[in-house]
Amino acid sequence: MNREERELEAQIEQLLADPQYQGHPLHDALHRLYVQHREHLDRLERIARISDGYQHMARQDAHSLSERYHRQLRQLEKVARISDRYQQMMQDLNQALQEASSRDALTGLANRRLMMERLREETERASRHPHPYVLAMLDVDHFKDINDQHGHDAGDQVLIELSRAMQAALRDYDLCSRWGGEEFLILLPDTVLADARQVVERVRQTIRSLPVDIGSQVLSVSCSVGLTEHQCGENYSSTINRADAALLAAKRAGRDRSLEA
Ligand code: GH3
Ligand code: MG
Ligand code: MG
Repeated sequence: MNREERELEAQIEQLLADPQYQGHPLHDALHRLYVQHREHLDRLERIARISDGYQHMARQDAHSLSERYHRQLRQLEKVARISDRYQQMMQDLNQALQEASSRDALTGLANRRLMMERLREETERASRHPHPYVLAMLDVDHFKDINDQHGHDAGDQVLIELSRAMQAALRDYDLCSRWGGEEFLILLPDTVLADARQVVERVRQTIRSLPVDIGSQVLSVSCSVGLTEHQCGENYSSTINRADAALLAAKRAGRDRSLEA
């Protein structure tokens, strides 16, 4: 109620209370009108209070709804982050497994499985375009003697250091694998025999001059190699067999050499 209304009410109350107007025909009508006016005002105030209450409740509802929404959003974001992390872990694990399944555990070189995969690819490539490749089968000479004289751990050490030296002596695009025991198969892609000869000779000389420190002593080893070029149209098993035959010939010829077939 504003000031004007309050003054008007006060004036009416004063008039109604004034004894000189008692019994006046307008006094009774004004009195009834005033009582009705007060009742209307009361009702209005109640309605205003109820409306305020509803508004307040509606605001609170909206507030708690938005609060709940944001809370759920935060939870969802957290779940998404956890899921992302798990996915990354699975990917890393998968990659590690793939890596482990294609590498030799002792030397870290490609294993037989990876080499066969690459050979399949290279042979397929060679069947479409003239892409010659060379295979070199390399075997450590008298390796059994190293094990017998210095122990199996010393033999392992020789294999590890020899593998490292071979990798370093090869070109980035060559693939060196541990084919079995002390036998290694080297793939020289896009290479003809004349060029492979130089690469293999470098590898052989590197191995020959490699000092292998086994703690009590420094050993040196030699190896024999069989070399051959893949012939257009043949499967890679035939190429491997030819490299193997050349290796056997190198062994028979006295070891510590490479022969071609
Ligand atoms: P050759 O000059 O004719 O190749 O003689 P070699 O003694 O090298 O060949 P042989 O096949 O008689 O012996 C190979 C030995 O390599 C026998 C085997 O116990 C050993 N060997 C195979 N794998 C491993 C390995 O992972 N670690 C060690 N320390 N020895 C191994
Ligand atoms: Mg051997
Ligand atoms: Mg052997």
